[in-house]
Amino acid sequence: MHKIQGIAVSPGVAIAEALVIDSEGFRIPRRFIARGAATEELARLDVAISAAGAEIEQHRDTVAQQLGQHYGAIFDAHLQMLRDSRLRAELIEMVRDRHYSPEYAVSRTLRRYAKVFQSLDSTFLAERATDIFDIEKRLLRHLLGQRREEVAHLSSPVIVLAHNLTPSETAGLDRKFVRGFATEVGGPGSHTAIVAEGMGIPAVVGVGSFLTDVSGGDLVILDGEEGLIILQPDEETVARYRHEAEQSRSQAARLESLNDLPTETLDGVRIELFGNIEFPAEVQQCQERQADGIGLYRTEFLYLNAETEPDEAVHFDAYSNVIRAMQGKQVCIRTLDLGADKVARLSPPEDERNPVLGLRSIRLSLRNLEMFRIQLRAILRASALGSVRIMFPLISTMMELRQARMVLTDVMEDLDESGVAFDRNMPVGMMVEVPSAVLMLDRFVEEVDFISIGTNDLIQYTLAVDRANKDVAGLYNAADPAVLRQIESSIAVARQANIPVNCCGQMSGSTVYTMLLLGLGLRQFSVPPGAMHEVKRVIRCVTIEQCQALARRVMALENAREIKSLLKEEVKRVAPELFS
Ligand code: PEP
Ligand code: MG
Repeated sequence: MHKIQGIAVSPGVAIAEALVIDSEGFRIPRRFIARGAATEELARLDVAISAAGAEIEQHRDTVAQQLGQHYGAIFDAHLQMLRDSRLRAELIEMVRDRHYSPEYAVSRTLRRYAKVFQSLDSTFLAERATDIFDIEKRLLRHLLGQRREEVAHLSSPVIVLAHNLTPSETAGLDRKFVRGFATEVGGPGSHTAIVAEGMGIPAVVGVGSFLTDVSGGDLVILDGEEGLIILQPDEETVARYRHEAEQSRSQAARLESLNDLPTETLDGVRIELFGNIEFPAEVQQCQERQADGIGLYRTEFLYLNAETEPDEAVHFDAYSNVIRAMQGKQVCIRTLDLGADKVARLSPPEDERNPVLGLRSIRLSLRNLEMFRIQLRAILRASALGSVRIMFPLISTMMELRQARMVLTDVMEDLDESGVAFDRNMPVGMMVEVPSAVLMLDRFVEEVDFISIGTNDLIQYTLAVDRANKDVAGLYNAADPAVLRQIESSIAVARQANIPVNCCGQMSGSTVYTMLLLGLGLRQFSVPPGAMHEVKRVIRCVTIEQCQALARRVMALENAREIKSLLKEEVKRVAPELFS
């Protein structure tokens, strides 16, 4: 049994066979072959080695012709490694005597060689590891010829273990069979993590290098609460986790009874609880849980998996389905927030050094006015169907907000001229997720109808910590006092200006922060549908006065760890059943 710690990003426990996908998207199959299959499998290995060799020779000749003999020599070195008799003997032994599949033998052996090179002191030799990985990929390509698209077409339950999954790959996972996933890279606030939570798939990211320790078909436990991956678990551990999974299923069933109860504190203050959605299917969950509306409708999904740029009809269809499903309840549509880790297939980004600080979100929309106008037209047309509001993401200057509003007014005039119906009074709001917006909020509130605090980005930009990078994940902390002060001040400014303030970052869906946010004056929460019950449960167990007292204590502290443990202690005290 081997336990590996990663970052918990989507709750739940999964126990299933591993489906391993390496960094290039190859699916590493089962470790073993059938007993009588060695001859056939060795023949397959031979064919793959010959084909890879021929391919390398061809590359060598082309490169030598175009760039000179010297460059072609790199491929000679690859050929030598590929045709090394010791390597071949080792592979044959693994397949013939130990019944390993050729893919597994190739991967295991070459990665072991690469590790040896990587551990050497010489930079020159360490860099040779890259050559070995190159040979591994080449051989696997010939052996497998299959890529990760397969993850969308499965026939039995699996836990996907991958080097990385982009948000669109995550969105494309076959929900019926993917019980969970873990990735070597990725951070706590990545869009992949958010998509996983939205899809209700337990997930752990930022595990670090571990794919060489596991092979397809191995039994794996994924603990999305603690951020653990357990490889080759013993029977006792499997039994314990099965029991836990069972308990959390019955806990979830118990919490269903909250659906019909009002979201209000013990002292009778009504709190509005909205849902965050990205995929149309999440709307159903919001309805079942009697959400007050949709507080954040992320529209990126329209682009993430699209082969072609979505036109106005595609936008309109998606919005109108959600609006109709919500039957008159508020739906807040956020304009496109593409860029950074939300990269659409159709527009591969230029080589940005700092995509998080680059051309993303509203900046991208304002640079692509045609695309922006299409979306605005669709939102406006959809506004005639229900209670719709529009929200601009990542606003960092007044100019940006004014530009966005100008384009919106322009599109409204166009619609007017063509006699198309829309809600002329559709509320216009902005996300507060950049410190510059917090600092200037007293001015912004004069020009918007509402604000929504986006803590995922606010944490990232306040602390200068990439939300998708595992290496700095420990620094990405919602409990940091600098983050909390910004939230406190944003709520205060909005309340003073008498405009609604919502909080739609992942933080608002974590019960650890519910009491604090209430104490700071927040009366609207927008949370992932899966978090709605638990947040509601906490709201119904507390008084505003109690939360205000807690907020005062928290805001006097200066250490994130102390703050978090105080908050955890309090929520466990008021709602112990959520933690049993
Ligand atoms: C946020 O930044 O908190 C937010 C809700 O937006 P996203 O996670 O989509 O960037
Ligand atoms: Mg954001």
